[in-house]
Amino acid sequence: MRLHLRGVVLPEDEVRDLWVRDGLISVEPVRDAETLCGAGWIVPGLVDAHCHVGIRYGGGHEDHDGAVEQAETERDAGALLLRDAGSPIDTRFIDEREDLPKIIRAGRHIARPKRYIRELGIELDDERDLPEIVAEQARLGDGWVKIVGDWIDRSVGDLRPLWSDAVLKEAIDAAHREGARVTAHVFGEDALPGLIDAGIDCIEHGTGLTDDTIDMMARRGTALVPTLINIDTFPDIADSATKFPVYAAHMRDLHRRVRETVANAHAAGIPIYTGTDAGGSIRHGRIADEIDALSGAGMTRHEALGASSWNARTWLGRPGIAPGAPADFVVYEQDPRTGPEVLAAPAFVVLRGKVYSRRDPVTGHR
Ligand SMILES: [Zn+2]
Repeated sequence: MRLHLRGVVLPEDEVRDLWVRDGLISVEPVRDAETLCGAGWIVPGLVDAHCHVGIRYGGGHEDHDGAVEQAETERDAGALLLRDAGSPIDTRFIDEREDLPKIIRAGRHIARPKRYIRELGIELDDERDLPEIVAEQARLGDGWVKIVGDWIDRSVGDLRPLWSDAVLKEAIDAAHREGARVTAHVFGEDALPGLIDAGIDCIEHGTGLTDDTIDMMARRGTALVPTLINIDTFPDIADSATKFPVYAAHMRDLHRRVRETVANAHAAGIPIYTGTDAGGSIRHGRIADEIDALSGAGMTRHEALGASSWNARTWLGRPGIAPGAPADFVVYEQDPRTGPEVLAAPAFVVLRGKVYSRRDPVTGHR
């Protein structure tokens, strides 16, 4: 398929002509190209940097068809690059599918017994095995490893770190030797200093960030994926934790101040990227909601879109809109920085040069 588009290309904010041939972007005219649009906004393919393809909505492992459906849902929402932040199933078969988003795998979640969602992760009886298991998951993934940094300790009745600082340092070093980056699930305050000091590359959620740990992350350049639309489920988690009142109060407090926490992190210069945490308790296809949420947490709408597009792609080592780059972009009829209604309804989604989604702006039908 040969395509021609004209529109405002982001992030440069310039009206340009683009062509697509053999799945790649060209800035030179391509003969016999079909004009897809003569006006509009063209945005590098969106990134959901915390998107569990393989975890079923409501819990449990997804099967083959379910994982395909999740990936299709992301694609139609414009999320064309997904970092899975841990998946219990092998989704390698999706790599063979030209019609599905690219998944950057983080292997399986690494946790300890009774210290994470049951049957999702690898559970280590002895924390001293962490470096070896991290290295193994690094070899199985696509350049990322996912550790569960803290979780409720039911014997204490509150969030507690899963690992000692010394073993974290060894484990993160082991991942780096394999050429992989490491990220960790962290809700509370206490697990953060050890993880950041150990050289972790990214923090998921990060609701427990304080002025001190924000300063540590900013100095080290550690990234943050806040997953705000998932944090909005914290009050429900607290409501169902009646046996653990301290934990419930802690979760409510983390939730209450999360937008301020993220705004402080952004103001300190911490790189922030969009992740929906789809799978489990969040439905797939909600990247527009997370972009909108970030714009309510100290980021301008341009910055929030960049956190899901050009900046996130650079962070994950993928090109934006450039000559010879894969033709992965989203086209909107209006400026997607005007609000969630526009973001949620792309006119076209183009993945590897093919047009997949064309939503009627009036009826919403495809
Ligand atoms: Zn997650």
